[in-house]
Amino acid sequence: MEKIKMITPLVEMDGDEMTRVLWDWIKEILIKPFVELKTEYYDLGLVNRDLTDDKVTVESAIANKKYGVAVKCATITPNAQRMTEYNLKSMYKSPNGTIRAMLDGTVFRAPILVDGITPYIPTWKKPIVIARHAYGDIYKAVDGTAGKGKAELVYTDRDGNKTQKTVFDFEGDGIVLAMHNTDKSIESFARACFNYALDMKLPLWFSTKDTISKVYDGKFKEIFARIYENEYKEKFESANIEYMYTLIDDVVARIVRSEGGIVWACKNYDGDVMSDMVATAYGSLAMMTSVLVSPDGVYEYEAAHGTVTRHYYKYIKGEETSTNPVATIFAWSGALKKRGEMDNLPDLVDFAERLEKATIKTIEEGEMTGDLVGLFKKEGVTPKKLTSREFLQAIAKRI
Ligand code: NAP
Ligand code: MG
Repeated sequence: MEKIKMITPLVEMDGDEMTRVLWDWIKEILIKPFVELKTEYYDLGLVNRDLTDDKVTVESAIANKKYGVAVKCATITPNAQRMTEYNLKSMYKSPNGTIRAMLDGTVFRAPILVDGITPYIPTWKKPIVIARHAYGDIYKAVDGTAGKGKAELVYTDRDGNKTQKTVFDFEGDGIVLAMHNTDKSIESFARACFNYALDMKLPLWFSTKDTISKVYDGKFKEIFARIYENEYKEKFESANIEYMYTLIDDVVARIVRSEGGIVWACKNYDGDVMSDMVATAYGSLAMMTSVLVSPDGVYEYEAAHGTVTRHYYKYIKGEETSTNPVATIFAWSGALKKRGEMDNLPDLVDFAERLEKATIKTIEEGEMTGDLVGLFKKEGVTPKKLTSREFLQAIAKRI
C-alpha cells in the first residue's frame, strides 16, 4: 500500500514521562505505516527545555504560528520537587501557558464518547465542549495580604489622571486581589467560540456572573453580544444553531439536565474547574481531547491529561503499563485532519477519521486499557485489559 503524502509539516512538540513513551509508539504503530509523516520537531521535554533555557518552547510556538497546525505531547510543569529531580536551572513556566499567551488562544476540550462507557450523568448522549478563555483573570492577578488599613484600587491614565476606589477598610488581617482582562483578548475569545460553534454546527452557551460583577463580567457579556449581532447572527441563523447568554448558575443547572451537544464558553477560572468536572462525568480524563485555537486560525492539538507520572515510574522499572493513549491519538488525528483540510489532502483527512473510528471500535469490541475496564458495560462484550502497546496494535489492525 502506498503511504499518504503530506505537503506542509506538522509542528511536533514532544513532551515528558509516560506520554513521551506513548508518543513514539503512536507514531511507530499507528501513523508511520500509513502516512509519510512530515513534521518539524521540537523537543519540549523538560531536559531540553532546561538545556535551551526554555527557548525551545517559544520557538515551537513561533513555528506553530508559521505553519498553522501543531500537535503537542503532555509536558511537566516544574515545581520544587521537579527542580531537584531534574536538577533544573530555573523553575520554568508551564509550556502550555507560554504557548497559550503567544497564540492568544481559546482552549476547547471535548470528550471522546464510546458505546459501553456511560457518563455519570446518564442523560448526556452527546459531547459537551468546554471553551475556556485562556487569558487573564486570577491567572494574571496581583494579590497580597493586608493588615489594619485601607486597600485601594488606583488607575492612572496616560495623562496622569488618577481614579481611586476603596476596596476595603481593614480592621484586622485580610487578603486582597486585583485582576484584569483586555477587550482585545475577550473579542478574540468571542470570535474563537463563534467560529468553533459554526465549524461543529453546535449551539453556543456563554455564562458569567454579571449580576454580581456588573462591570467586569458585564464587559464579557457586552462584547459577546456586540460581536454576535455584528458578525455572526446571520451565520448562526442559517446554520440553524443558537447563541445563548445566561448566568453561570443557570448554565450549570441546564447542562446537567441537557443531553449534551453544546459548546459551553467559560471564563478562565470557570473553564478550568468545569472542564475537570465534565471530563470526570464523561468517565475518564484519559478520554478528553483539547485544542487551542487562535483568533487568526492557528491550531494546537493535545490530550487534556498530564504526563501520567505514576505509570512512568513503573515503566522505567521495566513493568508493562496499561496507560490510555486515546486522547494523545486524537491529538494526532485532529492535527492530521486539520493539516489535510488546510492543504486540501482528502486522503490525509480520511486517514485521520479512520484512525479515530478504529480507536473507538477497538474499545467498543472490548479491547481497552485498564482505566476503562471498570467503566465499560456492554451486553455480550467482556472488557479485556491490554498493555498500551497491545492496545495500539489492536487499533492498527482495525485501521
Ligand atoms: P496526570 O498525568 O493527568 O495523571 C493523574 C492520574 O490520572 C494518573 O496518575 C492516572 O491515575 C490518571 N490518568 C491520567 N491520564 C491517564 C492515561 N492516559 N491513562 C491512564 N490513566 C491516566 O496528572 P498529574 O499526575 O497531576 O500530573 C503529572 C504531570 O503532568 C505533572 O508534572 C504536571 O505538571 C503535568 N501536566 C501536564 C499537562 C499538559 O501538558 N497539558 C496537564 C496536566 C498535568 P492512576 O495513577 O490512578 O492510574
Ligand atoms: Mg483544572
